[in-house]
Amino acid sequence: MILPYILISPVEKQALPLVFDSPHSGDIFPADFVSKVSKQNLKTGWDAFVGELWQGAVNNNAYLLLANISRMYVDLNRAPNDIDPVLLDTAWDYCQPTKYSDRGMGLIRRLALPDVPIYDQVLSQKQIQTRLDHYYYPYHNVLRQTLDTLHQTQGGVWHIDCHSMKSRGNEMNIDSGLLRPDVILGDNDGTSASAEFVKVAEDAFIERGYHVVRNTPYKGGYLVTHYADVQHNRHSLQIEVNRDLYMNEDSFTPNPNFKNFQTDLNWVSAKIADYVASQI
Ligand SMILES: [Zn+2]
Repeated sequence: MILPYILISPVEKQALPLVFDSPHSGDIFPADFVSKVSKQNLKTGWDAFVGELWQGAVNNNAYLLLANISRMYVDLNRAPNDIDPVLLDTAWDYCQPTKYSDRGMGLIRRLALPDVPIYDQVLSQKQIQTRLDHYYYPYHNVLRQTLDTLHQTQGGVWHIDCHSMKSRGNEMNIDSGLLRPDVILGDNDGTSASAEFVKVAEDAFIERGYHVVRNTPYKGGYLVTHYADVQHNRHSLQIEVNRDLYMNEDSFTPNPNFKNFQTDLNWVSAKIADYVASQI
């Protein structure tokens, strides 16, 4: 079996209660994935190189959790029952499709791109359960465990959910056709992280010259809303970075600015780490 994730830990003695995770940085498809969609089209959902971009966070005493499996196989940033019944061979009352499933982007994606269905065939309940048991729950369990342990031992925990976005939305996106800013911070409209924490991240990006927007169009997905509990000092913030800043969006290769952008993200994670260190 393919390992569902990689967890990179900082030197234990200096570890901060700060966890970066990247649920869409995986590009592996397990052998039971059957689709006629081209590799190129399947790559569009990949948050390419996000793990490499944020790897400096570990040197700044944070944890970094990276998914190995493609989000086109199972999307870790969805509720486990956000399943479109149309994908299934039989009815399953477990399914609770949300707006993501309606757009073809639920736990199991129906569409790779607008008008590009992933499957010619229906899936069985067992096939979906396997994706949950082998890949989805192990990722969520290790994230939950890491956050809980840090919260218990240090009294608070700060979680950054890292993503990348196409420079322009397509028809499956709620901002279809529009050019996107450099960075979008999602704190679920001020409810998933303290205002102070969000401001630290925002100021860090602005100081490096980036155009930052909050919550539009991305407020934060399932991970941020599921793991946040601000009243109990558990903060989750989603960071979306524009792919145009670091890669060629057609060829999925790093562009000449990759190293500069990686250096800037290292700097941003250092600022965030300084803030977290000041809170414990
Ligand atoms: Zn993503």
